[in-house]
Amino acid sequence: MPPPLVAVLGGGQLGRMLGLAGLPLGLRFRFLDPTREAPARAVGPLVVGALDDEHALGETVRDATVVTFEWEGVPAHSARFVEQHHPIRPGPRALEVAQDRLLEKALFLALGIDVAAFAGADDRAELDDAVASIGLPVVLKTRHGGYDGKGQHVLRTSRDIDDGWRTFGGAPLILERLVPFARELSVLAVRGLDGATACYPLVENTHVGGILRVSRAPAPGLTRALQAEGEAIVHQLLDELEYVGVLAVELFEHDGRLLANELAPRVHNSGHWTIEGAECSQFENHLRAILGMPLGSTEARGPAAMVNCLGVVPAPGPLLSIPGVHLHDYAKVPRPGRKVGHITVTAPDSAALDVRLDRLRDAAPELFTGVARGS
Ligand code: AMP
Repeated sequence: MPPPLVAVLGGGQLGRMLGLAGLPLGLRFRFLDPTREAPARAVGPLVVGALDDEHALGETVRDATVVTFEWEGVPAHSARFVEQHHPIRPGPRALEVAQDRLLEKALFLALGIDVAAFAGADDRAELDDAVASIGLPVVLKTRHGGYDGKGQHVLRTSRDIDDGWRTFGGAPLILERLVPFARELSVLAVRGLDGATACYPLVENTHVGGILRVSRAPAPGLTRALQAEGEAIVHQLLDELEYVGVLAVELFEHDGRLLANELAPRVHNSGHWTIEGAECSQFENHLRAILGMPLGSTEARGPAAMVNCLGVVPAPGPLLSIPGVHLHDYAKVPRPGRKVGHITVTAPDSAALDVRLDRLRDAAPELFTGVARGS
């Protein structure tokens, strides 16, 4: 029997890290990506083609043991096309929900998961009605296609409503109450083929301009009650979607409660710390789940922080002399604001982690532009 072949739709850094986690398990990979320079090309052959090109899809999934995706922008109809002849995990429904912010919020609500007040708006009259019922300030978002804070506009005054409509009017929109959250958290869990689940400790995330900059795990001050609340949210979604693989849910902590913001049906940036910081990484657990293997432990080995490298990866020399620092360079073409790598810092306790993070900040201050000390 040849070793299992995992076909991955998308060949970005998430695909690359899936490959890096899977090679020691004896797995083979094939990726589909529109760009020749896709970072995953380092860990398996790359089919260069559009993610909705049936010929390219067919070539990618040929002889695959299982198909998965590393980008939630993979068209759901591509997943349905693949599903006709190959197992694709997680399934297309998770993609459909993640690709429509209104469907996503409606699903949270239907499952009894708390969310910010929201309403859909397809024309100017609906937008005005929605603002009137929710009350300013609100966040106006496109229902489809937004990520990393793109496709969003905060409306604070009635003049902003005109601006927001000029910017996005015509596209299907969703309005949400602007939540004055205490902090942003995420919860990552994995569900196996047999329905077994395991959940990582909740993570605290610092975003600047809608882009994730720093994650800390476990979230500082994490209580059993908060962990249980996060787990209840993600488990309901895993069961409802009959999900197989890693699922991430982004959360706001507000007034001591969790509100769900959005889900990501894939391995997630706020889970990169698990490579060095958890017993079994999110990448290995995703592969174990989709291949029907037993899940690995999601326990943290100790406190960890992850810092994204945007635009450029700092020179490794000064960083690697700091204990507990692990550098991940995605080998991407640098471009301003682009996620081109990340750094994980591990430590035996949170005081030592703070000292190491301060040293990292001194060695590469550009990593922390706009990020308050202590984040
Ligand atoms: P999203 O694309 O929905 O993940 O939003 C990107 C970022 O915008 C989030 O991580 C938050 O920092 C912020 N944001 C989004 N929605 C809201 C909201 N309803 N209230 C407050 N902040 C929000």
